[in-house]
Amino acid sequence: MPVRLAIDGGTPVRGTMLPYARHVIDDDDVAAVVDVLRGDWLTTGPGVAAYEEAFAEAVGAKHAVAVSSGTAALHAATAASGLTWLDEVIVPPLSFVATANCIYYQGAKPVFADVDSGTCNLDPAAIEAQLTGRSRAILVVHFAGQPADMDAIRAVAQKHGLSIYEDAAHALGAKYKGQPVGALSPLTAFSTHPVKHIATGEGGMVTTDDDMLARKLLAFRNHGILRDSHAREREGDWHYDAATLGYNYRMPDVLCALGMSQLEKMPRWLARRQTIAARYTQAFENLPEIEPLVQAVGCESAWHLYIIRLRLDALRRDRGEMFTALRAEGIGVNVHYLPIYHHSHYQTFGYAKGLCPVAEAQYERMLTLPLWPGMGDDDVEDVITAVHKVVEASRA
Ligand SMILES: *Cc1c(COP(=O)(O)O)cnc(C)c1O
Repeated sequence: MPVRLAIDGGTPVRGTMLPYARHVIDDDDVAAVVDVLRGDWLTTGPGVAAYEEAFAEAVGAKHAVAVSSGTAALHAATAASGLTWLDEVIVPPLSFVATANCIYYQGAKPVFADVDSGTCNLDPAAIEAQLTGRSRAILVVHFAGQPADMDAIRAVAQKHGLSIYEDAAHALGAKYKGQPVGALSPLTAFSTHPVKHIATGEGGMVTTDDDMLARKLLAFRNHGILRDSHAREREGDWHYDAATLGYNYRMPDVLCALGMSQLEKMPRWLARRQTIAARYTQAFENLPEIEPLVQAVGCESAWHLYIIRLRLDALRRDRGEMFTALRAEGIGVNVHYLPIYHHSHYQTFGYAKGLCPVAEAQYERMLTLPLWPGMGDDDVEDVITAVHKVVEASRA
């Protein structure tokens, strides 16, 4: 008797939906937040600098500047790098839309370069064909948490006088050739949205080794003003000066306390993500219809996402149908990402479909499996059981 899939009226592998990502909040996280709520500062107090210092140390950078979201971190990095009107920035299309939006925030233009079919990271060999006289920078994304091929990207950047900065929203804890992501280029942006490695509700961080860039970031998040109101009060001075154009991208002390508390657990959570990822990879070795992302030599992924690619020629269901079938089994699969230029907003700018054929082909066959540190071993086995069940019942 062949097994009946849940979409065909069979019994689902799970009775409850297992999400693809979820934060983990312990009692000590709650206590850390409550402490701040009872204190004198809800925002821009001593908790901000303490969190920034701990974060900088965790990623091996000299400075970390906390901001209100990962998107604000990208905006701040884009502004601090001096990016301006009509500049062009090379960016991979397989990412969250904020990666490219932040380039438009500065009046500059994202130019999409294709990805490598194995890792789905920016393909260094695809960059040169996209360069013009206006090219200024490369915005690297560490897709799913695996560091991009930084040496090759640096070589292209150096040859053409481009700067590099990084969207490391997926890559807190990742290492490239032994070096943590966060100090590989002049500016690196992180997110602490609850689906990422540590959760602060909303939150972001920019790291840099450069003192001047750090000052620019501090001003950018606070209306272009470098001295905060508490310092003015202490010094008995009312005067402040907005020297540049800035925003209110400040991160409140309440959330920095949560970030600080979460950061302490990062090494343990990273190890748990690695364990789950290794179990998946081993469990799918005997399923030829499934290809996990290739893990490059010298790259230690932070395993933000576990992505599988379906061999569509070997299956009689397409990705959409496989998605629905796995959801029916109680597995909260997801898809990362629709190529950025397929979004309606980008289509109005005239980016043609077919621009990055590798990214588009990979997108059509991708599924993201649940992966977060609070998953139990039973949850992991449910995912494996459901993937085997659905794939085996869908063979062409
Ligand atoms: C989550 C994410 C962002 C945006 O971060 P927010 O904190 O949600 O603003 C940017 N880029 C990538 C690749 C992301 O995954």
